[in-house]
Amino acid sequence: MHRRQLLKLLLASAALVLPFGASATQIRNARLWRSDDKLRLVLDLSGPVQYKTFSLSAPERLIIDLSGAQLSGDFSQLALTNTVIRSIRSGHFGQGITRIVLDLTGPVRLNSFQLPPQDGQGHRLVLDLLSAAPAQIAAAAPFVQRETPLGKAHPKRDIIVVVDPGHGGKDPGAIGAKGEREKDVVLSIAQLLAKRLKREKGFDVKLVRNDDFFVPLRKRVEIARTHKADMFISVHADAAPRLTASGASVYALSEGGATSATARFMAQRENGADLLGATSLLNLKDKDPMLAGVILDMSMSATIAASLQLGNSVLGSLAGITTLHQKRVEQAGFAVLKSPDVPSILVETGFMSNARDSRRLVTARHQKAVADGLFEGLQRYFQKNPPVNSYMAWQQSQQKSQV
Ligand SMILES: [Zn+2]
Repeated sequence: MHRRQLLKLLLASAALVLPFGASATQIRNARLWRSDDKLRLVLDLSGPVQYKTFSLSAPERLIIDLSGAQLSGDFSQLALTNTVIRSIRSGHFGQGITRIVLDLTGPVRLNSFQLPPQDGQGHRLVLDLLSAAPAQIAAAAPFVQRETPLGKAHPKRDIIVVVDPGHGGKDPGAIGAKGEREKDVVLSIAQLLAKRLKREKGFDVKLVRNDDFFVPLRKRVEIARTHKADMFISVHADAAPRLTASGASVYALSEGGATSATARFMAQRENGADLLGATSLLNLKDKDPMLAGVILDMSMSATIAASLQLGNSVLGSLAGITTLHQKRVEQAGFAVLKSPDVPSILVETGFMSNARDSRRLVTARHQKAVADGLFEGLQRYFQKNPPVNSYMAWQQSQQKSQV
């Protein structure tokens, strides 16, 4: 999805869900001024507002939270080209807060203040962005590129995939009619996927568990983040509400409601497997405001968009191997997918509750076919979206330069 489309979507959803009425301060307009040493963003308001700002790095972002404020304009008309602001996103966040996220090209120092009505102007919130980096950096850049046309030593790093076999230990997951256990099936598939990934140059893989033990949901998310995963894939074979339900499905996180009753059921069941995990994830808010800010940052939306793309690619590959229970990527509030910056999907490889599915899922041949399908799906995704420093990105740039 293009950034602009995403922004429109966010603005549209913000307009729909804002729960407060006429008493809210309206953010009516945004204006941009440039000078040599700063960029000034002015928000025209219908009244005074309470606001908070904070910044996040990697990538650099500046977040402005306005309490009791409602956005009635948008930022699409602002000329951001050649400014420190790459893009502006906004959305509704928590109780009556409008969050504006400035995606930056580099770090800035912020000076912000409000102005009362004056000289025909109404209430305003002024945000002055002062460059924190020396100006020479921009001028020097082209020379660096000319000196090393093929790029100085490309890092050619591996794409890191964290594979998460669901359940384990005291939590068997779903149990089939003949006693087949989800935790065993998904461990085998995950291990086969890991083996396949290890054989492929440019990929590295970590398993959340490589044996039969219990891992809390929160810990699974942490493992993905600790390894700086480029992608997180949780493998399951759950029970469906209906015994006749069969085939594979792929899920991504949703910030709002679930896209279907099955998606809601699956998320509740999975999250319920580890209530502690889900609760402690929410408690991050009290412990580390920075981290909570990252988790709830609207950049989550970008991660979800990437997860949906990844999910579609995987679903496409599975279509040739097994029947599909859902033809599109479903979304619901899975705790295990709540990694703010790692595209994450949960794959239901089939249903243990379905006799035909469970019979196939325990066979080595089908497990191998599913693992290969997962591999192809994620390889195709990364071929389209290679991480900048990755071996795959380098390989593609070599191919291009030979043309
Ligand atoms: Zn499961």
